[in-house]
Amino acid sequence: MSGHTDMVLVDDDGIRIDGRKADEHRRVHIEAGVLNNADGSAYVEMGKNKVLAAVYGPRECHPRHLQDPTKAIIQCKYNMEAFSVSDRKRPGPDRRSVEISKITAEALEKVVLTELYPRASIDVYIEILQANAGTRCAGLTAASVALADAGIPMRDIIPAIAAGKADGHVLLDLNKEEDNYGQADVPLAIIPSTDEIVLLQMDGDMTREEFDHAVDLAFGACHELYDIQKEALKKRYSAVKGGDEDE
Ligand code: UDP
Repeated sequence: MSGHTDMVLVDDDGIRIDGRKADEHRRVHIEAGVLNNADGSAYVEMGKNKVLAAVYGPRECHPRHLQDPTKAIIQCKYNMEAFSVSDRKRPGPDRRSVEISKITAEALEKVVLTELYPRASIDVYIEILQANAGTRCAGLTAASVALADAGIPMRDIIPAIAAGKADGHVLLDLNKEEDNYGQADVPLAIIPSTDEIVLLQMDGDMTREEFDHAVDLAFGACHELYDIQKEALKKRYSAVKGGDEDE
């Protein structure tokens, strides 16, 4: 998020480098139940982002000192593969992945009925196979579909998308160039049935009006993503019911 580049990110007609208008998100594709050996799973593409989420549990919580006698805990691991970005990412956890894992688990705790499973752990693994900005949102979107696919009782599923500012324009769903050279990035995740915000971050600078506009754009897009998440789960459910499952 440097805010400086010679590259024109938005042209005179308001068109972005990937051909989108300011209020358009990238193509989204969601598939539920893509892994045989996890309790639940999902694959999400948001533009060039490719993300896999796998869920295990509820199962006995290890290490045991993390157990909560009143509810299950959600343990989340967000991991960016070494090959997911053009400059090889050093494998293993770093400050960024620890932060994203924490905020993802905190968002998911708002919808999972953890009180039904005292002392248990629900483990969520998010693997970023290919990154192009917006991976924390794609990861959270995938994780909530994977939790539903695992049959874990939830109040709702969570869609997430970012909006931000580049070349002085408020834009929905920044791509990597817009994220790197833009002025601000605002990831948002909501509970669609109540419009409660479960994740809101901001990197960079915007005026209050620009921030409100960015949040409005992201809210609208979250509702669109929500429909795509539900469609993916319905498709998965009819495949299981029809006996089309891999196993
Ligand atoms: N990125 C990268 N190497 C890193 C971290 C990030 O190339 O070690 C790129 C990647 O494309 C990522 C983007 O920078 O999607 C924006 O990263 P940010 O921290 O803003 O998180 P995100 O937008 O992916 O949630």
